[in-house]
Amino acid sequence: MSSSWRFDKQSSSEVQAVADVEVSCESGTMEQPKKIAAIIVAAGRGSRMADDAKNPAGPKQYRRLGGRSVLQRALDAFQRHERVDQCVVVIHPDDMTSYQDSVRPHPKLLEPVIGGKTRQDSVRAGLESLAAYCPSRVLIHDAARPFVDTDLLSGVIDGIGENRAALPAVPIADTIKRSMGGTVIETVERDGLFAAQTPQGFVFDEIVMAHRSANLQDRNDFTDDTALAEWAGMDVALIEGSSANSKITTAEDMKTAQQKLSTIPDIRTGHGYDTHRWAPGDAVWLCGVEIPHTHRLDGHSDADVGLHALTDALLSAIADGDIGSHFPPSDPRWKDARSYRFLAHAAKLVRNAGGTITHVDVTLICEAPKIGPHRDAMRETIATILTIEPARVSVKATTNEAIGFIGRGEGMAALATATVVICDDD
Ligand code: MG
Repeated sequence: MSSSWRFDKQSSSEVQAVADVEVSCESGTMEQPKKIAAIIVAAGRGSRMADDAKNPAGPKQYRRLGGRSVLQRALDAFQRHERVDQCVVVIHPDDMTSYQDSVRPHPKLLEPVIGGKTRQDSVRAGLESLAAYCPSRVLIHDAARPFVDTDLLSGVIDGIGENRAALPAVPIADTIKRSMGGTVIETVERDGLFAAQTPQGFVFDEIVMAHRSANLQDRNDFTDDTALAEWAGMDVALIEGSSANSKITTAEDMKTAQQKLSTIPDIRTGHGYDTHRWAPGDAVWLCGVEIPHTHRLDGHSDADVGLHALTDALLSAIADGDIGSHFPPSDPRWKDARSYRFLAHAAKLVRNAGGTITHVDVTLICEAPKIGPHRDAMRETIATILTIEPARVSVKATTNEAIGFIGRGEGMAALATATVVICDDD
């Protein structure tokens, strides 16, 4: 067998016999794909979930959280992750109906597996069910952590070595006390202390054998799988966990999670308008692109009417004045200035306000020049100035049907909107 199982802490012949049981598919002549499987442990009874008579204790993994079950939310990150091939959920024998009501079918989702008396028994049942699929790596996750994201999964997958486990963890921030009978007996040094999270990642063969060995030795007291892995002599690499990956244990945790999801996103929309007069010339700056033309636009700066309207739209989204208040035409510093500087400054102010620019839209209104051939260059230029993807930048143009000052060729105008999402972490 290919795995490098080590018995640093056990040497009984019984354990050795378990180690000799083949769990790997790699001994065959055919090369197997390096599959990654995930086990979601959802067999808990939620005994600490009771808050009042209307909301008695019960499995929290089947409760709804922002339109989906806690379990479905936990599954979503694994099913979305491109490197995860299969997911299996371990459930309590009484929960088949709840499971079917709260989980959507998915091509990566296998039939649920019935768990055992303890979490450790349930994980082992999940592992044994996966043996037939020959995964090379396995991630083991608690359904009570519905906020796990794909970045954390990537970190755990990358952290698994040839015979090493990966544990996401966060440093302990609170001062830790030990008490006896309600009285503090000591303050525990918190340096080097971490709170363990899930998913925890393993080489599949190694963790299967560790679980079998623990079971044969009647060791059913491990509270997580890396504790069992440490007992079995595996190295466990600590990787950076996420404070968002919190565990729902009590009714209060559930309320906090619901509040987190019910927060209305702070989306702002700003609008801008600008106009400049035509003057004799041979080129015009529009949306950061210089276009040969029979005229130029007249102005204190390069008179880029598109970027001026967009700068105003961004400032408007964070209610921070307008282009004139930040770059007064009376200031000689802005004489003949390139307008990308104004737009870049507005984008910086948006970021400083905790904003993310999610979309911008510019409409140029002129009888000439033709904008179509330059549209993509304008979108690319604005995207570069704002450091966003071109797919989030719209530029379009219209004539004014030969009406009014634009129609008479006296000047041109631009309209812009900017959509900004403010994320205030404080
Ligand atoms: Mg202007």
